[in-house]
Amino acid sequence: MVLAGLVGSGIGPSLSPPLHEAEAGRLGVRLAYGRFDLDDWGLPAGAAAEVVAAARAAGYAGLNITHPCKQVVLAHLDELSADAAALAAVNTVVFAGGTAAGHNTDWSGFARGFEAGLPGAPLGSVVLLGAGGAGAAVAHGLLTLGAGHVRVLDLDHPRAEALASALTARFGEGRASAGGSVATALADADGLVHATPVGMAAHPGLPLPAALLHPRLWVAEVVYRPLETELVRVARARGCRVLDGGRMAVFQAAEALALFTGAVPDTDRMRRHFARL
Ligand code: NAD
Repeated sequence: MVLAGLVGSGIGPSLSPPLHEAEAGRLGVRLAYGRFDLDDWGLPAGAAAEVVAAARAAGYAGLNITHPCKQVVLAHLDELSADAAALAAVNTVVFAGGTAAGHNTDWSGFARGFEAGLPGAPLGSVVLLGAGGAGAAVAHGLLTLGAGHVRVLDLDHPRAEALASALTARFGEGRASAGGSVATALADADGLVHATPVGMAAHPGLPLPAALLHPRLWVAEVVYRPLETELVRVARARGCRVLDGGRMAVFQAAEALALFTGAVPDTDRMRRHFARL
């Protein structure tokens, strides 16, 4: 029996347990995937360190780490993958050979999902709306895939500036910038990635005026609940190639499951399952 789980706050509705357990089962691996919701104990983010220590002692294969714990666990791990270290964020911990190693499958999940869902999409100039945790992972993915330039926009402008500076330091001068109007930025962009919470059930609506979505633009959504956000629906109706947020969610889970089990998940099967959850 392989043991794994998710650590975070407010994770009751997470789709990770059924997604991981069902795919593991189909790969012939008996996996039990638990939820460790710090809210259940009224504990702060820092308590994730206790869960990591307990899971390691109990023989867990690994853990997924989500909001608000992706940074606080860094100090409690023995090793970090190069990308997790660069992003200073861990969403997957693997216990093996007596060590706890931190990985980040958010960025690679976005990148693999992007390649699978929008094959051949031009990456010369991309606008990223939202500079939070998801936006940082997406930007790392875009630039790793070879994007020429990523323009970061956020209502919190200092946050966008900080992300653009970090990206420039990591990927080189001229690869990222922040600020400007969304209208100007989109006019000659190849693509838009949306990484704010707008469009979630609790924050319905469009994050930008529909008229800015021109048909030469591809649009990648990061919000996955609902899968068909207003942005996805409107962008498709306006003739844009569209990628929904389920791709990133499924591919980050598939990569974590591979790290936990050594098996190779079937991402198409996981996507079909995800859409039914
Ligand atoms: P976050 O709170 O860290 O960051 C969100 C950012 O969006 C903030 O900087 C905020 O200032 C900005 N913002 C909010 N409204 C805006 C607007 N109208 N215009 C411009 N900027 C705006 O959140 P996060 O963790 O980055 O998550 C963002 C979304 O991504 C959530 O809906 C989350 O569920 C989703 N997400 C999806 C995946 C996936 O696998 N598909 C993974 C992680 C997060």
